[in-house]
Amino acid sequence: MLAKSYMDRGELVPDALVILMIIERISQKDCADGVIFDGFPRTRDQALALERELREHGRKIDYVLYLRVPDDVLLRRIAGRQTCKTCGYIYNIYYFPSKRPDVCDHCGGKLYQRSDDTLETARHRLQVYFAQTRPLIEYYSGHGTLIEIDGQREISLVTEAMTLALGIHGSDAEK
Ligand SMILES: [Zn+2]
Repeated sequence: MLAKSYMDRGELVPDALVILMIIERISQKDCADGVIFDGFPRTRDQALALERELREHGRKIDYVLYLRVPDDVLLRRIAGRQTCKTCGYIYNIYYFPSKRPDVCDHCGGKLYQRSDDTLETARHRLQVYFAQTRPLIEYYSGHGTLIEIDGQREISLVTEAMTLALGIHGSDAEK
């Protein structure tokens, strides 16, 4: 509710509050064997604060997966993304197009593009990433926790490389 009060005002939720929510969530039973964070932390400050809190709760980050993808591919992945209005299936006009343009292969629903998935916003997001998030690669590399994965291959191969890196077996990953 506290986080919502920030979002309702159009403000960013402070890092300390986000981390508090994360700690609370991962303290639950279903996270006892470990968790994977996706998209967090995104800044060095967040990484430091997260590490501090985790340590206080007797936990730590074992691995950081870095999915390396060339910038131009990232831009096309974002700018080319299409989603089915009906079933939510995701396509990409460059890499994974539907058989008929703008029509879902699975359900025949209409495909749409998110308003924030344009080349311009993709470029902006990439700039924010370069400035704020990319320094984390060096940070975690220095900690010896970074595992680099070639993220330009097929989804199934990237998934395989990730589960292999984490020592997760196929059946565990599907849980
Ligand atoms: Zn569909």
